[in-house]
Amino acid sequence: MRPTIIEDIKCRRVLDSRGNWTVEVDIETMYGFGRCSAPSGASTGKYEVAAYPQGGIDKALLEIEETIAPELIGMDSEEQDVIDLILKNADGTDDFSNIGGNTAVAISLANARAAASSCGIPLYQHLGGNFSTELPFPLGNIIGGGAHANNATDIQEFLVIPVGAETVTDAVMANSLVHAGVKKAVSGKKDCVSGKGDEGAWALNVDDEGALEILSMVVEEVTGETGIDIRMGLDVAASELYKNKKYVYARSGKKLTGGEQIDFIVELIKKYSLYYVEDPLEENDFDGFSEITKKTGKACLICGDDLYVTNEKRIKDGIKKKATNAVLIKPNQCGTLTDTYKAVKAARDNNLATVLSHRSGETADDSIAHLAVAFNSPIIKTGTVGGERVAKLDELIRISEELTIRRAKMARLPLFSEEA
Ligand code: PEP
Ligand code: MG
Repeated sequence: MRPTIIEDIKCRRVLDSRGNWTVEVDIETMYGFGRCSAPSGASTGKYEVAAYPQGGIDKALLEIEETIAPELIGMDSEEQDVIDLILKNADGTDDFSNIGGNTAVAISLANARAAASSCGIPLYQHLGGNFSTELPFPLGNIIGGGAHANNATDIQEFLVIPVGAETVTDAVMANSLVHAGVKKAVSGKKDCVSGKGDEGAWALNVDDEGALEILSMVVEEVTGETGIDIRMGLDVAASELYKNKKYVYARSGKKLTGGEQIDFIVELIKKYSLYYVEDPLEENDFDGFSEITKKTGKACLICGDDLYVTNEKRIKDGIKKKATNAVLIKPNQCGTLTDTYKAVKAARDNNLATVLSHRSGETADDSIAHLAVAFNSPIIKTGTVGGERVAKLDELIRISEELTIRRAKMARLPLFSEEA
C-alpha cells in the first residue's frame, strides 16, 4: 500500500486565541501525520464562505465523523485536488454552509500536512517543490482598533513592513522592536493605552492620525537603531465603517462619502509614504478601488481582503477593472487548499502581489508560513507578538534556516523597481 493513503481521521474542538472553540483535525497515513486547526475572523467579508454550518461546531464535528471521514479514509493524501473536491461535494453548496469553511480548511490543510509528512518533507516543499527559494517579508500589526479592539482607533490595523531587512530574522526583529517602541512611546501618557487588540496590537485611545504620528516616530527611531528601512501600512477594513452609504469614523465624528473616503486615503498614502493599504473602501466598490489604485498604485500596494475573499472569480473581476495591485490570501475564506492555490495563481498570473494572511482569531497552527514560502508570496501578514502569531514567524525563521542550502533570499518586494 502507498505510504500516503489515509488510514484514520480524528477531530476535536480546541480553543483559539480569542477563547472561542475551533475545529482541529488529525489525519494519519501509514507513514505520516498531519494536523490543522482553523482560524476565525471578526471583521469577516460578506462574500466569504460560511465558517460553520447551522448547529455550529457540534454539527461540524458530527459531519466529519459521520460523513467526511468515512469517505476520505482509503484515499491518497497526495491527491489534494480530489480530496478537496470530495469536501465540496460533501457540502453540496457553493459557500460551504452545510459543513463549514473552517471544517473544510482544517481537513484540507491537515491532509496536505499528512501527505508531506508521509514523504518525509516539510509542507512548503511538498506544495512548492524545489522552487521555494524566496522568503516573505512579515507585515506586522502594531496598533489596532476597529472590530479587533475597544476604546481604540477607527482604522483596524496600523502595520509595518521592514522592507530593508536582509534576513527573516532581522525582519521579525525589526517588527518586534517597533511593537516594543510603541509601548515605550505611550507609557506614562494618561489614557493613551486601552490594552491590546485581538492580534496583539496596541489598542490606543487616540484617533487614526494620532496613531500614525506615534507609529512614524517609532519607525524612525527603530530604523535609526537598526539601519533597516521600515515602511508603514494600514488595514482600513472599510466595510466595518460603512453605514448608510457613508464611512463613519466614530472617534472623530467624520462621515465621509465614497469620494471623500478616496481623497482621505490618497492623502494618508502621500503624507505618511504608506507602502501598503488594505481594504480602503467597502467590499462592493470595485470602481472606487480602481480609482485609488490609479492614483497611488505606483507607490503603494492597494490590497483587497473583504473585496476578494480569496475567491478566484472575484479576483479575476478585480483584475479586469484594475481594482488593486495586491491580493490578501486567507485559506479559510474559501475553504480549501485547491481554491486557495487558484486564488494565488489568478493573482500571480496578472502580476498582483499576494499577501498570505492570518485571521484575528488564531491558533498555534503555522501552515500559512509554509504556504507563503511554497507560493513565493512576497509578504506574509501574521501579527508581531503573541504565541499564536509568533508560531508563524518562528516557523518562518526555521524554514529560512533550512533553505540556506538553496541560497534562499528575501523575496523581491513589489514597487521598488518603479521607485529606483
Ligand atoms: C483582516 O481584516 O485582515 C483580519 C486579519 O481580520 P479578520 O480575521 O478579523 O477578518
Ligand atoms: Mg483585512
